[in-house]
Amino acid sequence: MLEKEKEIGLQAVGMAMAMAAAIQKELTGGDTLTKIDRSPVTIADFAVQALACQILGNHFPGMPIVGEEDSLALRRPENRELFAKVVHYLEQYDAPMRGQEICDCIDLGGAEANGTFWTLDPIDGTKGFLRGEQFAIALALVRDGQVRLGILGCPNLAPTGGGTLFWAVQGQGGWKIPASGGQAEPICASTKTDPRQMKFVESYESSHSDKGTQLEISRLLQISSPPEQMDSQVKYGIVASGIADIYLRIPNPGTPDYREKIWDHAAGSLIVEEAGGWVSDIDGKKLDFSAGRTLRNNRGILATNGRVHSRVLEIIAELAARK
Ligand code: AMP
Ligand code: MG
Repeated sequence: MLEKEKEIGLQAVGMAMAMAAAIQKELTGGDTLTKIDRSPVTIADFAVQALACQILGNHFPGMPIVGEEDSLALRRPENRELFAKVVHYLEQYDAPMRGQEICDCIDLGGAEANGTFWTLDPIDGTKGFLRGEQFAIALALVRDGQVRLGILGCPNLAPTGGGTLFWAVQGQGGWKIPASGGQAEPICASTKTDPRQMKFVESYESSHSDKGTQLEISRLLQISSPPEQMDSQVKYGIVASGIADIYLRIPNPGTPDYREKIWDHAAGSLIVEEAGGWVSDIDGKKLDFSAGRTLRNNRGILATNGRVHSRVLEIIAELAARK
């Protein structure tokens, strides 16, 4: 099931990983713009969305793609130099396209999140990408509100140079492979039961979650090491492969209207579940991917190895009741 989707999706994300890693190394100040919501977008976000949408559009014509970016800013005359760099990298990484074609491919990602569709985050964790740290390329196939296929490219995740590629097909388990090639291996969430031995991960960016409450929860669980900060869905990858045990994302009270975006969680959540872990929101509700571009029926995220999930939910509820 979903063999062709998996094969083409892995090809697209694999190519995008190599290109994004090269761009990260060579990035200069002029390669970044600021979006209306004040978040950064780089030549890598545009180039990866163009490349992935071109491949998906060729192999699955008519299948909607819900991507994070659009080409509006790229078309502005003042961003000509930045556009030229996108053209350059696509050419270098075997996806030569003319200017108009690049914009058209990026805008293929403007579909509605309905029925069966792809969802793509070309560079998840753009702020980490800019700091030279972790980021991910995340692609998922959603059908009838459920994630059926998730692919996560993590170019800076060891052990190998070139990073790690994770994927999962619903009902078929989770897998990883070094991006540089080699043998695919099944992945398993950890089997730890004692929270004191567990590793807790959260966002690097303070504005993306409520770090104070997260620290309190890690203390109440008596976790001996402090929470580790990391950008992007790489956090799901390391929970799915047993390196970390708990990924918590309590909404930041400073941004009460923020709703999680589907492309920030679709691929990662399936990979954790298929590796034997659990994913829910902070009220214990299953993530609902049937509500458009955001997870508007959910609050926050909790991904764990499964064994500690209900304990973390209990503590979250206890703390909320005290406030
Ligand atoms: P992470 O590195 O795990 O924090 O994830 C990065 C993602 O956080 C970005 O792709 C944004 O879509 C998302 N993000 C931006 N602002 C917020 C916010 N206020 N609360 C939660 N997530 C956010
Ligand atoms: Mg993102």
